[in-house]
Amino acid sequence: MKKPIIIAGPCSVENEEQMLLTARALAKIPGLSFLRGGVWKPRTRPEAFEGRGEEGLKWLREAKLETGLPIVTEVATPEHVELALRYEVDALWIGARTVVNPFSVQQLADALNGLDIPVFIKNPVSPDLNLWIGAFERFQKAGLTRLSAIHRGFSYYKESPYRNFPMWEIAIELKRLLDVPVITDISHICGNRVLLRDTAQKSLDLAFDGLMVECHHDPDHALTDAAQQITPSALQDMLESLTPRTQHADSDDPVLAALRSEIDDIDDELLQLLARRMNVSSQIGEYKRQHGLTVVQMDRWKRILSEHLETGSRLGLSKELIEKVFEDIHQASIKRQL
Ligand code: PEP
Ligand code: MN
Repeated sequence: MKKPIIIAGPCSVENEEQMLLTARALAKIPGLSFLRGGVWKPRTRPEAFEGRGEEGLKWLREAKLETGLPIVTEVATPEHVELALRYEVDALWIGARTVVNPFSVQQLADALNGLDIPVFIKNPVSPDLNLWIGAFERFQKAGLTRLSAIHRGFSYYKESPYRNFPMWEIAIELKRLLDVPVITDISHICGNRVLLRDTAQKSLDLAFDGLMVECHHDPDHALTDAAQQITPSALQDMLESLTPRTQHADSDDPVLAALRSEIDDIDDELLQLLARRMNVSSQIGEYKRQHGLTVVQMDRWKRILSEHLETGSRLGLSKELIEKVFEDIHQASIKRQL
């Protein structure tokens, strides 16, 4: 397995002592890739702590000089970029609230034009894959080549145990389309300490490329995101408790080979069945057209979906899967009949 990229450090740079104590402890963890620290904090309410700005960059640079760890901070405006570069920040990240705004992203891309600095692009707050991809395109057009993604979960209208719902499938799709490293920001996904380990393991199991974890020498008294920050030693324990998985299965493994061949056969059957279903659907479409019937027959659609849900549940298939699959099939059918 490729070595995971581990980015750790406080949510916010608060003062010199906090930054140095945290950085010294983190520097003892083997395999740390970047020391993070936010100096401009995008806060929901204006009275909240909004970061130390330029002063914070001084302490971040001090931590870099003392520990030798490369440093990374969030930038949201061209002025931030200029200051970050002045204080020898090694990499930048673009926050979730900035990536939602193409004007801001374009300004940042212009400010970084032609520079060879690594940039980590967080997913936008809303689950919008194209908006995330668009941010990559703006930086690529500006000539930046060392781009990675940070998956930090999405705002979601439903109750969930997460602060930001992971929707892993969006991050998987981004990786498939852009072929960039994707780091999982377990801290902002979870919003608490309890879920961190399992979320980190899930990220490894899904073959993502690393973790971002907020660490503070005294997390309970952190000025921002106290509930989700952990001590450097808790991070070390967590990292040691994770089970690595290899991405490339041994192609000679006979058990896996047999199971995969069975899956391939089933997929083939599924495709044949889908094609047959679409054919019948076309015939029904033709019949409806000749007899002046509407394409969508709501009563029938409601009835078959509820029957499929019942059958599916008897077969141990989740409601979510059945709804998703049959809604897609039904949509494709309607399209064909139109
Ligand atoms: C952060 O990393 O501290 C942060 C503000 O993250 P996000 O943009 O993901 O909310
Ligand atoms: Mn934070």
